[in-house]
This record gives sequence, structure tokens and C-alpha cells, in this order.
Amino acid sequence: MKNYKLALVGATGVVGRTALEVLNEFDLPIQEYVFLASKKSAGNKINFKGKEYIIQELTENSFDNGIDYAIFSAGGDTAKHFAPIASQKGCIVIDNSSAFRMEDDVPLVVPEVNPDDALNHHGIIANPNCSTIQAVVPLKIMNDICPIKRIVYSTYQAVSGAGKQALDDLRNNTCHKFPHPINNNCLPHIDVFLENGYTKEEMKMINETRKILHKPNLKITATTVRVPVENSHSESINVEFEQDFDINEIIFKLKSAKGIIVQDDLQQNIYPIATHANGHNEVFVGRIRRDNSVPYGLNFWCVADNIRKGAATNAVQILDWLIRKEN
Ligand code: NAP
Repeated sequence: MKNYKLALVGATGVVGRTALEVLNEFDLPIQEYVFLASKKSAGNKINFKGKEYIIQELTENSFDNGIDYAIFSAGGDTAKHFAPIASQKGCIVIDNSSAFRMEDDVPLVVPEVNPDDALNHHGIIANPNCSTIQAVVPLKIMNDICPIKRIVYSTYQAVSGAGKQALDDLRNNTCHKFPHPINNNCLPHIDVFLENGYTKEEMKMINETRKILHKPNLKITATTVRVPVENSHSESINVEFEQDFDINEIIFKLKSAKGIIVQDDLQQNIYPIATHANGHNEVFVGRIRRDNSVPYGLNFWCVADNIRKGAATNAVQILDWLIRKEN
């Protein structure tokens, strides 16, 4: 098997540092690592797999020395400038930002859902939004059993998804990141408001779900809410199917699916919660029940670590998939 050289762009950030943990857990044939960040972090050290690395400043020359893959977790502007440069130099980029997600020639990939899309890349593969990733893992299973007609998303998103300053606000009861204190509040406002009255986060969930499930006309609506929880996003998902379905088949297939853990024992008060999902790579699913207000409806609750499955883990899984396909 070939040995690979991997660059981690944004290695000092919340997602980048978690990507280091996930890379440490995966058994990938990577021989050489390059850790890149902004000028501010250049020269700092990272200990990884028993070796000390010096963080380098990301420049236009960073990809000159035969880097096979790069995981970018450095924001949209950095990705927009540097990902095309990396890909022109033969490096395959897996980008965590929203910069390329909706471009036609950029695959948007969740390995449990549409792994083969990753093979049709032109040098850049996009990692979806954290709230979309955890939703589409169980939705794909359901859509394979019975075609989905409509989805209603209501999210309860953790503060870690908004970065370090937001976490400081939650912990110190300050108000710098959001327009209102996040402490003791639920804010129906993630990312900016658009002309249609939705937030950009809500439109990301709608458009990305359609692209990943290959259902461009799927009816979807979303309300995304920031809640005073440090980590792991929770989502209430209402699904309407085209025809009748067997709920036991859905539960059985969810239980046997890779990447999903079903927690649904109401007698024991067992259902997915954020503190249980923290630190895990799986999507937790529970409260699975019929929605009796429509002929073919279903409700469920799903929780996942937004920094792991919602970002770092998904990116490393894409990398793992591409390397396995090459060998
Ligand atoms: P973060 O903690 O602010 O980290 C940003 C990283 O990018 C740092 O390593 C920073 O390096 C680096 N960086 C910033 N500007 C740079 C530049 N000009 N050149 C090189 N490196 C630069 O952000 P994060 O939460 O990890 O998010 C990273 C990306 O992942 C974003 O695109 C975000 O939208 C996406 N994402 C985040 C989440 C989440 O839940 N947090 C989920 C999914 C996707 P320095 O330390 O040197 O400044």
C-alpha cells in the first residue's frame, strides 16, 4: 500500500484539533504530516503520534512538496483562496467550510450516505454542514426503505459550533458572539438572516440535504436554534413518506446501520442526549414514533457530536474512503 502525505490546514482550531484526535484513532497509511495554520501560530509545536511537529504558516507554496491530501478547517475565505491552489498542485482537498458545498463539480459527501460521490471530484470535496451531516445519516436509511416526501427540521444546536468566543459567552454569561445572551436563552438565529426570512444555516440544511440525498426537489423546511449546550447538536426531525411504511423495519435497519446508535427505551428514560454523544463518532437516534397527524408520517430525535461527526470525523472518514478505494 502506498504511503501518503497529509496536510491539516487549520490544525490549531477547534475542528483541526479534533481532526488530530480522530486521525490518531483511525489506522490510515499516512507517513508524513504537515500542520498548517495562520502566521500567528507558525512556529508553535504539536505533538502527534509520539512526534513533535512545528506548525507552519499556510502560504501559496505550502503544497509544493507532493502532498496527497489536505483537510482544510480554516474557514471559507482561506479555503476559497488556498484550496484551488492545493488542488492545482495535485493535492486532493477535503474542505470543512461552506465555500464549495453547493458547486456542481464539488461532491458533498457523508460516507454512510453517498460515498461514491467522493470519487467524482475535481480536486475538492466538501464536508457538509454539521447539522446536515447528522440528519442525513438516518434519513438515507429511511429513504431507501420508503421514499421521503417532506422533511421538517427543528434543531437545538450547541454553542461549540459557533467557536471559542461563543463558548466563553456561555461559560462566563457574557454577550459578545450573539445578539442576545446565550446563557438561559434559545436563539432562533444561526448564521445571517436572508431575504426569504430564513437563516443561512436553515438554507444550508435544506439545500445540502437535497444534494446529498440526490433529491433536488425534496420538500424541506427548517428552523435552526442555538441552545445553551456546550457541545453536540440535537435535532427533532419530522418526515413524511410517499407511501405507507413499516416502523419496525425502519427501527431494525437503523439499529443495523453503520454509524448509527439507536437509543429508544422509554421505560428506562433512554433516548439520545448531548452529554452521551460528546466524544463519539456515531449519530444517536431515538424517540422514533409515527406522526399520526398525516397518513405516512414519522418523528425522531437525533443527536451527534458536531465537532466530531459534524466536521472532523466526517472529513477523516472521507479521507479513509478515498485511500481505501485507491488501494
Ligand atoms: P477555529 O477554531 O476558529 O479555527 C480556525 C483555524 O483556521 C485555526 O487553526 C486558524 O489558525 C486557521 N486559520 C484562520 N485563518 C487562517 C489563514 N488565513 N491561514 C491559515 N490558517 C488560518 O474554527 P473551527 O470552529 O475549527 O472551524 C473551522 C472550519 O470548520 C470553519 O470553516 C467552520 O465553518 C467549519 N466547521 C466548523 C464546525 C464547528 O462545529 N465548529 C462544524 C463544521 C464545520 P490560527 O490558530 O493560527 O489562527
